[in-house]
Amino acid sequence: MQMTSDQALARLLEGNQRFVAAQNHHRTYEPGDLVEIAHIQEPFAAVVACADSRVVPEVLFDQELGSLFVSRVPANVASDGTKWMIDIAVGEFKVPLVVVLGHTGCLAVRQIVEGLSGPGGGLRHRVQTAFQDVRLARLEPVYEATIEQNSLNTVKDLLSECPPLHQAVREGRTRVVAALYDMPSGEVRILEPR
Ligand SMILES: [Zn+2]
Repeated sequence: MQMTSDQALARLLEGNQRFVAAQNHHRTYEPGDLVEIAHIQEPFAAVVACADSRVVPEVLFDQELGSLFVSRVPANVASDGTKWMIDIAVGEFKVPLVVVLGHTGCLAVRQIVEGLSGPGGGLRHRVQTAFQDVRLARLEPVYEATIEQNSLNTVKDLLSECPPLHQAVREGRTRVVAALYDMPSGEVRILEPR
C-alpha cells in the first residue's frame, strides 16, 4: 500500500534522528543487492536540497539507494532541473512527500545577502526575492531569515510552476514541506509557513 505523507515524513525524521545519534544503519551493497536495485526503484519522497557538499539527503536522512528522488542546486531553488525532477517524482513514482531542504551556513544565500554578483543562470533572482521578503517584513537576523524564507518560497514556486504537483497536493495525494538542516547539530526541523 502507498505510504501516506505523514508516514513518509516520519520515516525521514526518524532517519535524521539516527544520523544525529550516530546510529546510521550501516549499509553495504552486495552484488546481488545491486542487481535487484537496478531493476526497480521505489522512492517514497522527493527532496530539493542545496548543492553544498555537506548537505547530502541520503546521508542526513539515513536512507538507502532507491528511496529518495533528489535534486540539488545552489540555494535549493526551483530550477528547471528541479521542476523536471518533481514532475517525475510525482507523475511516475507518486511520491506522497516533497521536502525543500535549506541549510544553515548556505554560501549561495550569503552571496545574495552580501550583494555579490555573478551569473547564476537566472536563478539568483529567486534568492533575491526571499531577501527582499525578509527586508520588507523586517525579519532578523537577516541572513538566517533569508535562508528560511528562500526554502518557503521554493515550496510556493514549485506549487505554482509544477502543475502535476499542484494537482497532487490539491487532491491530497502529496504534501510539500520546507525544512532546515542545522549543520552543526545535524538536525532537520520543519519550517512553518509564514
Ligand atoms: Zn547552500
